[in-house]
Amino acid sequence: MPRFRIPQSGRTPAADGTYHGRMKKFGLALALTCAVLSAHAGSTRQLPASLPVPGGLVVLDVGPADLPRPSVTHDGRPVLVTAEHGRWQALVGLPLSLHAGHDLIEIHEAGSARSVVFQTEDRSYPTQSLKVSPKHVDLSAADTARYNEERTRLDGLLGTFTDNEPERLLLLAPVKGQRSSSFGSRRIFNGAARNPHTGMDIAAATGTPVVAAAGGKVLDTHGYFFNGNTVIIDHGMGYLTMYCHLSRIVVRTGDSVAAGAPVGLVGATGRVTGAHLHFGVMLNHVWIDPQIVLPAAVVP
Ligand code: ZN
Repeated sequence: MPRFRIPQSGRTPAADGTYHGRMKKFGLALALTCAVLSAHAGSTRQLPASLPVPGGLVVLDVGPADLPRPSVTHDGRPVLVTAEHGRWQALVGLPLSLHAGHDLIEIHEAGSARSVVFQTEDRSYPTQSLKVSPKHVDLSAADTARYNEERTRLDGLLGTFTDNEPERLLLLAPVKGQRSSSFGSRRIFNGAARNPHTGMDIAAATGTPVVAAAGGKVLDTHGYFFNGNTVIIDHGMGYLTMYCHLSRIVVRTGDSVAAGAPVGLVGATGRVTGAHLHFGVMLNHVWIDPQIVLPAAVVP
């Protein structure tokens, strides 16, 4: 039987009926959870906390919400803007290539533009060495062509920005299991340096159900060379989640899914060392550390 840990940050899975229902089995845990929930009563929407580091995000006040919603860009890309306590707040995903110092967003409103500058900090990420099937490191000509085609396809999909505001900003855990903290780590596969890790790996047995971390529309279901069987969900305004290495996909492109609805089963398809879910979270076309927007880990 699983045990539940109260989120360390004070954040809760809010309207997460799944968690709440299970909590009824645990009297003390339920009482504690209700106390945490009531602390958030009156809040219209829970925002993640700013973490101005590579792979982090910043929440920036961009003006009073009684004015029309401003259009905000970062590095030329549109940014999620939501109202909180009567103010417009921009949620800006920061790339792993970010340097410490200053960065800025541009705010476009009523025919004029202004900048908001914010400070950024360093965060060091470790190097991780992994052993995988050689065909996923030294690619054949055919696999290289396939990968290049898939990269273009993925890049196009991940640039999706709709005007629909996400129903929630803090996400549900997509699967129960042991989480790695390897987001951002530089990866050495079979001794060869490759791209950094852009998501969170959650270890779980093949066949374990994987659920949508928030409501949205299925943007893609596809078998990718590295990512294996993959589902991408568009939550709106450039907020996307990606579920990789699935043994089975149970949704179709274009489906609307509710938070907590099944999207597939854990598997070991693509470039993997074993069965797990690779969970990616994207904001304004930037992969951010999923830990920032997930509740604290549930101990399996
Ligand atoms: Zn991964």
